[in-house]
Amino acid sequence: SRAKRYGKENRVSTKFADVAGHDEAKKELVEVVDFLKNPAKYHAIGAEIPKGVLLVGPPGTGKTLMARAVSGEADVPFFSVSASEFMEMFVGVGASRVRTLFEDARKSAPAIIFIDEIDSIGRKRGAGIGGGHDEREQTLNQILSEMDGFEKGASIIILAATNRPDVLDSALLRPGRFDRQVTIDLPNLKEREAILGVHLRGKPLSSGVDVPEIAKSTPYFSGADLKNIVNEAALEAARISKTQIDMSDFYRALDKITLGLENSSLTIR
Ligand code: ATP
Repeated sequence: SRAKRYGKENRVSTKFADVAGHDEAKKELVEVVDFLKNPAKYHAIGAEIPKGVLLVGPPGTGKTLMARAVSGEADVPFFSVSASEFMEMFVGVGASRVRTLFEDARKSAPAIIFIDEIDSIGRKRGAGIGGGHDEREQTLNQILSEMDGFEKGASIIILAATNRPDVLDSALLRPGRFDRQVTIDLPNLKEREAILGVHLRGKPLSSGVDVPEIAKSTPYFSGADLKNIVNEAALEAARISKTQIDMSDFYRALDKITLGLENSSLTIR
């Protein structure tokens, strides 16, 4: 179907305070918020507002969350799409969806467009035998031409997430397109503690719960993994009808998730 395949939220309540850690990334994105809120300031001095920012980092580190926070802080509509959902079997469908998306966003400007997994359409073109994938290339070309076609003062900023910046077509990274990169890495010890804090907010904890200790036990965990740990611990506690989560629930949750991660790494990777 040619139906639109993107989300649109007129108001997003997510704020930078909902994203734990990633202080450097926030510093860079505060600027994007200012572009959206005060475009006149930049135009007055003859500066062109950047159009595209790549959010680069492994899965589950909060790229989507961060994009939503930019939208929430700037108080502008949030258009979102997963790049892989744009493409179909029939050549031209993806490009037509991209056109509709940008048209809609222009009408709502200032606005954010968030493209998740940009690498699924943004890979280097023409690499495969026989010239490659026409639907994918046309979809990518349409994104590039929409970005080039922005009028000055359109105030649409495109945030795109990827964990594979190395495979992207260089045309995407040229000045005037995705010419800025913001790194959203796995959290360090302090950041894991902060992320656990965000997800423990409002949950009944027994006094024995040692958050720094949980953070120490979860090296290489992403924000999404940590959120999962907190929820699994709460489920463990509720399952045996406790009214508070205690440390043993976290240890059980950790065992369960570590085992799950090991299994998935055996079967999938
Ligand atoms: P993917 O690349 O897999 O789409 P992502 O980097 O976009 O992942 P999100 O989908 O934003 O990650 O993260 C999943 C969930 O994990 C978030 O909705 C949030 O609840 C939690 N989370 C991740 N990182 C953080 C963080 N830094 N602070 C608070 N919560 C986080």
